[in-house]
Amino acid sequence: MEEFTKPGYEKIEKYNTETTESISKNVLGIIKELGENTTREGLIKTPERSARAMQFLTQGYKMDPVKILTGAMFKEDYSQMVIVKDIEVYSLCEHHMLPFFGKAHIAYIPNGYIVGLSKIPRIVDAFARRLQVQERLTNEIRDCIQATLNPLGVAVVMECSHLCMQMRGVQKQNSVTTTSAFTGEFMKDTTRKEFISLISSSLH
Ligand SMILES: [Zn+2]
Repeated sequence: MEEFTKPGYEKIEKYNTETTESISKNVLGIIKELGENTTREGLIKTPERSARAMQFLTQGYKMDPVKILTGAMFKEDYSQMVIVKDIEVYSLCEHHMLPFFGKAHIAYIPNGYIVGLSKIPRIVDAFARRLQVQERLTNEIRDCIQATLNPLGVAVVMECSHLCMQMRGVQKQNSVTTTSAFTGEFMKDTTRKEFISLISSSLH
């Protein structure tokens, strides 16, 4: 193992050599099965590049979202809604291993603790950089913030385009899937409406 074992959320810069070799072999097999000439110039390094790319896209398995949040929690009296909008999401659908991507909008109402704002996008990354479904991704982010910060409420709205829908099958080119998850205060109509109106300029 090289830097792959780094704790917490640091990005991977080097990859485990054994894992990369093993994934490369499998990718080579896929390229062959697809009927391609694996020795032509453009494809020679593809298995290795693909192996590195797959590890990058799934690096969330090596991240600890709870650690990311607890590493930057501060005692604070502020008790109004904190919203982080337009967080970029890049994930892989676990059914086809094709990308889905879009935006997440996240809010919480502090209950004695706030968290460094940059940590919210980082936990989105930690859960998104895995094989996922959008519904579970939405819930996991909500549950992690709720369990760690213990706020008065958490709201997560996510809008994503799924390449497995857009490039194959039904080919609904412009469809966007919206998911949402709430806890606590956000279960109340008025609070949820306030949140939705505050993020609505960003919604489709
Ligand atoms: Zn899919």
